[in-house]
Amino acid sequence: MPLQQQGDRNQRVERQQALRVRRLLVSVAVYAPCSAFLALVAWLGYLPAGFVPLWTATFAAANLVFFALIRTRTNLRFVDPSMTMVQMAVAITAVAMVLYHAEAARGALLMLLLVILFFGVLQLKTVEVLLMGALCSATYGAVIVLLSVNRPGKVNVELEWVQWIALTATLAVLCPFVGYLGNIRRRLGESLRTIQELAHHDALTGLFNRHHLAHTLEREVARCARGTPPFLLVVMDIDHFKRINDTHGHLVGDSVLQAVAKQLQDTLRKDDYLARFGGEEFVLLMMANSLAAAQTSCDRLRKCVEELRIDALGPQRVTVSIGGSFYRPQDSQGSLLERADNAMYRAKTNGRNRTELAT
Ligand code: GH3
Ligand code: MG
Ligand code: MG
Repeated sequence: MPLQQQGDRNQRVERQQALRVRRLLVSVAVYAPCSAFLALVAWLGYLPAGFVPLWTATFAAANLVFFALIRTRTNLRFVDPSMTMVQMAVAITAVAMVLYHAEAARGALLMLLLVILFFGVLQLKTVEVLLMGALCSATYGAVIVLLSVNRPGKVNVELEWVQWIALTATLAVLCPFVGYLGNIRRRLGESLRTIQELAHHDALTGLFNRHHLAHTLEREVARCARGTPPFLLVVMDIDHFKRINDTHGHLVGDSVLQAVAKQLQDTLRKDDYLARFGGEEFVLLMMANSLAAAQTSCDRLRKCVEELRIDALGPQRVTVSIGGSFYRPQDSQGSLLERADNAMYRAKTNGRNRTELAT
């Protein structure tokens, strides 16, 4: 049952990987019409025959390599798993090859470099966008130098440098703006993550809150309805917590809640799920093969709370009453919670600091 934070993290990685594949597809969707356009330019005689098929094959292969890196999850080992700068550098190389061979159409084809820069909005910081802009400018500069060495007399070098200045000036305006858009996008993303964090977690204990529990329960009930093994729902309530508050004050009461939450978290297995249901009540979801195994697991949790030492309480021990119930076919969240809650109240009436399971 992938319930705990580990599950959430795995889901986040999967979402990011899916996003990376989608971004790659977008970039392929830009390469493809580019290739068709270059075929037209070649047909008009501004690119050498045979250049476009070779160019298309080379960069289709490059994109296949990026796809394979994502699919085999090799990219997760890189400093930047999104590989944005590398993909942009490859695209800049692709345009450089076109520029080198483009004869009189070179000036028009320079615009392809600007298209690449916009991909920077997706991932890059301002300084990285500026770096990519500088790379575009330097690449065209290198193409001009190569052309003036390899094809002297055939290239209007003066005109090329005028175009280079125009390109560099355009980049100087565009790059900070692209960086700014990227920053806004990143800040919005961070704010959204903070909002989600606050919406799903209890501020005092850091555990999942009732809202998150409702979502998780809905998912788990749906899974069981599809035939996966039933899970155990546990309701745990601190005994005589009001007395702790009345005797030691609410702040000590708060620190007891925090200590119990931490103790439970440290004791739980990786796949167990723990939420603060409200007040001094916690809800746990866990797997167990039988009632006996469930009883053992619950008693282990109960004892781990009893063993807790809290300085502010002196020798006084904190105990909990536990009620549990397995999911049953036709159960809703409400019926399952109600059965576990009734079992917990039985534990209270039967003397507290004990476990009762619905049978
Ligand atoms: P029982 O053994 O029957 O559960 O008795 P109890 O005293 O634990 O239960 P009761 O429902 O009478 O009291 C629960 C108390 O928990 C009352 C409420 O003020 C306190 N409480 C609820 N939430 C918080 C909180 O966040 N911090 C503190 N310090 N106290 C809280
Ligand atoms: Mg209570
Ligand atoms: Mg209580």
